[in-house]
Amino acid sequence: MRLTHYLLACGLAITLISCTDEPRPAGPDGEKTPQPPAHPSQGAPGAGDPYYPNDGNGGYDALDYQVKISYDPSDGHLEGDSTLEAKATQKLTRFNLDLRELEVDSVEVDGKPAEFRHTGEFELVITPAEPIDDASEFTTRVRYQGTPGSNAQGGVGQLGWLKTESGASYALGEPHSAAFWYPVNETPRDKATFQLSARVPEGWIAVSGGREKGKATKDGWTTYTWQETNPVASYLTTVAIDKFTIDRSKLSNGVPVLSAYAPGAENMRRVEANLDEVVRFLSKKFGPYPQTAAGGIYLSESIPFALETQGRPSYANWADVRVVVHEYAHQWFGNSVSIKSWSDLCLNECFASYTEWLWHEAKDGADLDELYRGDVSANPPDSQFWANKLHKMGVGKEFDGMYDKSKLAMHALRRKVGDQVFDRVLKEWPEAHRHGNASWPEFERFVSERTDEDLGEFFDAWFRGDERPPDEHLYPGKLRP
Ligand SMILES: [Zn+2]
Repeated sequence: MRLTHYLLACGLAITLISCTDEPRPAGPDGEKTPQPPAHPSQGAPGAGDPYYPNDGNGGYDALDYQVKISYDPSDGHLEGDSTLEAKATQKLTRFNLDLRELEVDSVEVDGKPAEFRHTGEFELVITPAEPIDDASEFTTRVRYQGTPGSNAQGGVGQLGWLKTESGASYALGEPHSAAFWYPVNETPRDKATFQLSARVPEGWIAVSGGREKGKATKDGWTTYTWQETNPVASYLTTVAIDKFTIDRSKLSNGVPVLSAYAPGAENMRRVEANLDEVVRFLSKKFGPYPQTAAGGIYLSESIPFALETQGRPSYANWADVRVVVHEYAHQWFGNSVSIKSWSDLCLNECFASYTEWLWHEAKDGADLDELYRGDVSANPPDSQFWANKLHKMGVGKEFDGMYDKSKLAMHALRRKVGDQVFDRVLKEWPEAHRHGNASWPEFERFVSERTDEDLGEFFDAWFRGDERPPDEHLYPGKLRP
């Protein structure tokens, strides 16, 4: 995710966004194991994230989603028919999916009707006709309908099913968005492959991540099918419904490109024109491009963020080439290597933000040491800039230091360990955790194993600290004035 610099100025001329400033409760900070179920054979209602303990669920591993939706922009009504293939990680007499606001008509497990009830904010509690054995694979089909919603809880701006005045819709949001439009194990810990068939009235186009698998028109409605064969975290899935202009091409590495421009966003082609150069640059730094598709979804709206939706980032109308660099860095850092908990977000954002500096250095000849010293002196020791933590930052504060302090922290790390080790880490980390999950402490160990230096105090000062690091860590290596 990349925020616009004027994000905090809520209430701009943004039809999609409403700002809520309610304080969020402080959450526990430690790593948690999944919540213990009320009964040993019932799946836990949360996956154990310390900040969002009810997100996701326990008792199974999602393998593949086949999501079918039909959406009418004229009345905002959605009908869904979604099948999840999963593998039980314990015996299950009961398990949950996450689904917000929409109404469930029926649930089948392995083809047999199952009992269900919708409780709390988003827990769909399912009791199959027969218990599911530990380690067995099973399918859950949910038919549902209603008007998909959105909210501003726990993230940036409005999250969920966003609508424009023209009737266009975009399912976007971090940390939450998927459960607003399909039943899901909504946690980045449980990635799965994903296929979407979206049926919209003729004239509208539905775009998603991954590769396009065709379209069919019948009775005035067109169904668009998209397939993501890499595992994808649910907040990185999307559907965008608009009267898009579609461009198709290929990257020089052969990966198919499909870019969609909302009416009025066609001039963003000048931004997308940089894509091949961006991916070539990043592949040289981070290793082979890990996704099956590329491109972009260009909105004509001024939403306050861009999001690295997998293989096809979603951009607001203020995006420029730096934003493309940022969202594509996420295709390695965040999308292929995903976080285990939201307190690990620096694994995504510190890398993507610093990659903007790497691009600036390589393409504009920027002197990053000079930029670094300038940013240090521009932020007095008592400013909020230094108080924002980069690891275990607290619920609701996940993004606070991720776009400015993060760049200095990563640059200081580079000067601390030297270019040779830093460059190795940039390539070897995404390779070691390709299409998996990792935590920030694992990253610290990964770097430490590649140096002779003890980095403990350095990491503490920069990533866990809430004040300006002492001079020995602020000016490592050649940064020393
Ligand atoms: Zn980002």
